Amino acid sequence: VEEGVRIATMMNADEIRKKDDLGLSALETELRTAIREGQLILYYQPQVGGTGALTGVEALVRWRHPERGLIFPDQFIPLAEETGLILPLGSWVLETACAQLAAWATRMETAHLTLAVNVSAHQFRQTDFVELILTTLDRTGADPRKLNLELTESALLDDLDDAVAKMAMTKVSGLRFSLDDFGTGYSSLAYLKRLPVDQLKIDRSFVTDGPSDPAAAIAKGIIFLAQSLGMDVIAEGVETERQLSFLKNCGCGNYQGYLFSPPLSPEAFEDFLSKPCTASRAGAEGGR
Ligand code: C2E
Ligand code: MG
Ligand code: MG
Ligand code: MG
Repeated sequence: VEEGVRIATMMNADEIRKKDDLGLSALETELRTAIREGQLILYYQPQVGGTGALTGVEALVRWRHPERGLIFPDQFIPLAEETGLILPLGSWVLETACAQLAAWATRMETAHLTLAVNVSAHQFRQTDFVELILTTLDRTGADPRKLNLELTESALLDDLDDAVAKMAMTKVSGLRFSLDDFGTGYSSLAYLKRLPVDQLKIDRSFVTDGPSDPAAAIAKGIIFLAQSLGMDVIAEGVETERQLSFLKNCGCGNYQGYLFSPPLSPEAFEDFLSKPCTASRAGAEGGR
C-alpha cells in the first residue's frame, strides 16, 4: 500500500511540475495563490531553558493545501527560493509572526515568550531587508527584544561586510540573531568574530546521547565556541532524555525538539500552554 501511495505521489509531482503557457509550473501557480489566499499557516515549536521551562518558540511555516492537505516546508521552500516567491512568503511569515508576538505580549502566561523566525538567504540579501524588518516590527507593535531572526551561514558568507552592516542596523531595534543549522555550512570560523550573532543553534545531526559518538565532539565544540564568544547556544532536534542530559552536561542551556513538543498549530499551542506538562518535563530534565 505504501508503495502505491508513493507512486501516486510521484505521478502527482510530475504532473504539477509541467509548465503552463506562462512557463509556470502548477505548483508555482498554486503557491502564489496560497500566499495570496491565506493557505499558509505558522506552527510554533516550543523552546525550553535549562530548568525545562518554556522560554520561546520557533515559527515554522506549513501550507494547508485545499486538496493535498498539510504540506511541509521542505516541499515548497526550495521552489519558493528558485522562483523568488520566498520574498512575499517571507514577508507574510514575518508579519504573521510579529502579529502573534504582539498578541502574546498582552497575556500574562505568554508575555515572556520569545519568537524565532527563519529568514532565507535570498530575503537577507535584499537591499530593503533592514527596512522590511523595522517596518514590520513597527506596524505590528511587536517587541523587537522578543524577536530572534534565524539565518544560515550561507546567507552571511558571500558578502560579509554587507551582512555585518545589515545585522548592526537591524539590531539597533533590540532584536537578536541566531545561526541556524550551525556546523553544517562552510564552517570558516573566522567570520564569527565579526558578525554580531547572539546565538548558535546546534544542528540536529550533532545531537547525540553519549561521548563516544564523533558528533558529541562537535556538539561540545560548538557549545564551547559559543561560550567563548559570549553567545547563547540552543540544540535543535532533541528527542530523548539521554540526549538532553548529555547536552546539559556539556553546558548547553537551551533546547528544542520532539522530547518537549513537535511544532504545534496555533490551537494546539494554546492547549500546550494550558497543560502543566512543561512542569513535569522540567522534573524529568535532571536526567535519567
Ligand atoms: P529549521 O529551521 O532547521 O527547523 C527545524 C526543523 O526540524 C523543523 O522542520 C522541525 O519541525 C524539525 N524538528 C524539530 N524538532 C525535531 C526533532 O526532535 N526531531 C526531528 N527529526 N526534527 C525536528 P520543518 O518544520 O519541516 O522545517 C524544515 C526547514 O524549512 C526549517 O529548518 C527551515 O530551514 C525551513 N523553514 C521552515 N519554516 C520556514 C519559514 O517560515 N521561512 C523560511 N525561509 N524557511 C522555513
Ligand atoms: Mg530554524
Ligand atoms: Mg535548524
Ligand atoms: Mg534544519
